[in-house]
Amino acid sequence: MSTFRAPRGTRDLLPAERAAFRRLETIATDLARRYGYHELDTPIFEQAAVFERGVGAVTDVVEKELFRIAPRTEEAESWALRPEPTAGIVRAYIQHGMQTWPQPVKLTMTGPMFRYDRPQAGRYRQFWQFDIEVIGDPGPAVDAEIIELGRAFYREAGLGSVEVLLNSIGDGACRPAYIESLRAWYQPHAEELPQLERDRLERNPLRLLDSKDPAMAELNAGAPRITDALCGPCRDHFSAVREHLHALGIGYRLEPAVVRGLDYYTRTAFEFYLPGRDGQQQALGGGGRYDGLVELLGGRPTPGIGFGLGLDRIVLALNAAGAGDAVREPGPVAVVIGADPGATAIRLRVATDLRAAGIAARADLGQRRLARQLESAAREHAHFVVIIGDELADGNVQLKDLDAGSQQLVALDDLARKLLQGDRSHRHGKGGA
Ligand code: AMP
Repeated sequence: MSTFRAPRGTRDLLPAERAAFRRLETIATDLARRYGYHELDTPIFEQAAVFERGVGAVTDVVEKELFRIAPRTEEAESWALRPEPTAGIVRAYIQHGMQTWPQPVKLTMTGPMFRYDRPQAGRYRQFWQFDIEVIGDPGPAVDAEIIELGRAFYREAGLGSVEVLLNSIGDGACRPAYIESLRAWYQPHAEELPQLERDRLERNPLRLLDSKDPAMAELNAGAPRITDALCGPCRDHFSAVREHLHALGIGYRLEPAVVRGLDYYTRTAFEFYLPGRDGQQQALGGGGRYDGLVELLGGRPTPGIGFGLGLDRIVLALNAAGAGDAVREPGPVAVVIGADPGATAIRLRVATDLRAAGIAARADLGQRRLARQLESAAREHAHFVVIIGDELADGNVQLKDLDAGSQQLVALDDLARKLLQGDRSHRHGKGGA
């Protein structure tokens, strides 16, 4: 019977790893609040058309990786698990008439995404993203603000060395001509291209630029650059984004290969990498401007920009840097144990009162000897044990500080206050109740 496993490409986040995710979620929520973003949640599945239209039918994400849900009934709809958050958020923006809210609308969401990809290190079929969207601001200042927010997130997470790779991929005015010049560049070499790249040449030549196939390196190095082909307004926008980044003291590297995999991007495109890890399909996060998306999904033309930062890869990077241990699941502050193994009711009662007072407390509900109860409290890294013994007849208990090794008699009525005080000084590193 023990043959069931988590589906391929997914994994259980066991408590230690979940604590690492929780820490990142807390940093994300706190940063988003400080920067004025409002949290929302969209369903983890949508009509498949939201992604087909929004992300683009000729993208890897839709063509190869979309997790489609086969309808069991006569339902006409075809559903898909969300491969990325932006299309669903923009769908919600339109559905709920957010165009009438004060603009721009700044939204944030953190949750699981799904891609039916070939699983490998750092690439899962279910993974988590911290997502930020600003809808209704044409930039360029907000483009820089978002990139700075991404950097701040990595810094607070413990990855201060993360680099910004920046590009502009133009818009509807200049990109079509550029794509034709790309086609013209690759066409004479079509026969030599790897199969995947030959397909892309036909259908989405921009994607050739971010090919990870080493056979493409030389050809790509000589390819025309979009930044040389931008129209006037896109060129002005791009240089203003760079000026704003400069004013914020954010370094970046111009990288023509950052074209992003999704159709909806326009102008600013960026990705975050650890130094030396770019070109290895190990982007920690990425984002860009999507000025055409709201209209594409049926709303009024409205500009937008956002990013999605992959939490799984951050946890992997922190673990690889040996910083993963910094995240420890918090143990209980206090464990209530007793000299009489059978007297579980009073231990439960005391722990319940402590919890009602806001203290993380656990009662030892086993029927073990006192010494064993004490051992297991220490193993859990509890700061205090409350020992219930004969003193209870006078309304007192023993309070033992496991870190300081000290012990004192405390009135049961005063226990919560003492523990709150002791917990505060523990958290400030002084120890002692
Ligand atoms: P993308 O929209 O593909 O640029 O994804 C944004 C970020 O999500 C990436 O930079 C990764 O950090 C993360 N990500 C994307 N796909 C996966 C995956 N299959 N497994 C883990 N993380 C992913």
